[in-house]
Amino acid sequence: MSSLFADASQRLQQALKHTTLSEDAIESLKYPKASLSVSIPVRMDNGSLRVFQGHRVRYDDSRGAGKGGVRYHPNVTLDEVQSLAFWMTFKCAVLNLPFGGAKGGIAVNPKEMSRLELERLSRGYIDAIADFIGPDVDILAPDVYTNAMVMGWMMDQYSIIRRQNVPGVVTGKPITMGGSLGRDAATALGAWFTIEAMLPKFDMRPTETTVAVQGFGNAGATIAELAYRAGCKVVAVSDSKGAIYSKDGLDIPSIRQHKNSTREIQAVYCQGSVCNIAEHERITNEELLELEVDILLPAALENQITEVNAHNIKAKLIFELANGPINSAADAILEQKGIYVFPDILVNAGGVTVSYFEWVQNRNGLYWTLGEVNQSLQQKMVAEAQQIWEIAKELSISIRTAAYVHALRRLGEAIDAKGTRH
Ligand code: GLU
Repeated sequence: MSSLFADASQRLQQALKHTTLSEDAIESLKYPKASLSVSIPVRMDNGSLRVFQGHRVRYDDSRGAGKGGVRYHPNVTLDEVQSLAFWMTFKCAVLNLPFGGAKGGIAVNPKEMSRLELERLSRGYIDAIADFIGPDVDILAPDVYTNAMVMGWMMDQYSIIRRQNVPGVVTGKPITMGGSLGRDAATALGAWFTIEAMLPKFDMRPTETTVAVQGFGNAGATIAELAYRAGCKVVAVSDSKGAIYSKDGLDIPSIRQHKNSTREIQAVYCQGSVCNIAEHERITNEELLELEVDILLPAALENQITEVNAHNIKAKLIFELANGPINSAADAILEQKGIYVFPDILVNAGGVTVSYFEWVQNRNGLYWTLGEVNQSLQQKMVAEAQQIWEIAKELSISIRTAAYVHALRRLGEAIDAKGTRH
């Protein structure tokens, strides 16, 4: 199979057919601006030394400093990080945030690390990339298997290196270190605002809607609960160990509580599984994706729906909470089947939007209420979703391509405004 980045670039090619971008802008957007790969030595608790591979990629910064999360996962590669940085570029442009796109990652299984080992790894990563990042250069945030605690260590380490407090270099921090209220739930809440705004276009209402959620991390568990509380029937959820199904709907708050309470005390990430709840029917992650539901919410990893299983998808609408859960070959198949896909660069942009609010608060030293954060988030998500919907209708293109067109117009303008630098 071709690289993830090559596949991600397909979406750009598709969207370029519907824009009048300058040759300069098109050429500039084909390549990541800078990629850094580092080796991070970590002293393990048993005294041995292990070296982990980390990456940070700044894809484009024509609209502002690079922005994007850091992922801890055994399968992290430079190719994946480049793709994720590419998506961040378009995501920030879709939401009109004054940022470019970036991403980082470390190839590690955090479930096998103690808390102290994780802290040493996180601080070591910052030591290795400190000259590549900064509050006006490239700003970090949480992603898969990283959280506020990890962001706190990273911000602290950067501040130690710079010998001053630099809260704006990392977002998604603990509140006590300058984090924003509402950042935790922002990815899911932003997605929910988008779903709520788009359902009426299909004459659908939450209370008459069945939902399946793939992934039960920060985004997946929170969106499952938001949907449940809005009256949707959430019939299936899953995590890395498998999925559970109930045709009458699952009690999401109690499943969330169960997953948290069965977490092993020592390990930071080794939570219990949704699968350990005896009374529910077990299905596989693959079966979850193919359920006959109104709304499918992939909230795990990339490449979950491909040309292999796209023919079997039966959902009416898909909202991508994960980055890149559907590959470009599957796009065409889903479109043929009449399934509407609302893309990652819109749907999951609530996280980076509240990251932006956090960065603004850090720079001003004045902090917002949760109400102010959520209201601003809602306004931005709904306004951009509506514009993308209009572009899709006007040009008769998919919602994904419309989102790229919307982003490309802003990116093209910024690149061209800088003139001929070369
Ligand atoms: N990792 C998240 C994403 O993929 C958030 C990035 C951020 O807040 O900068 O959008």
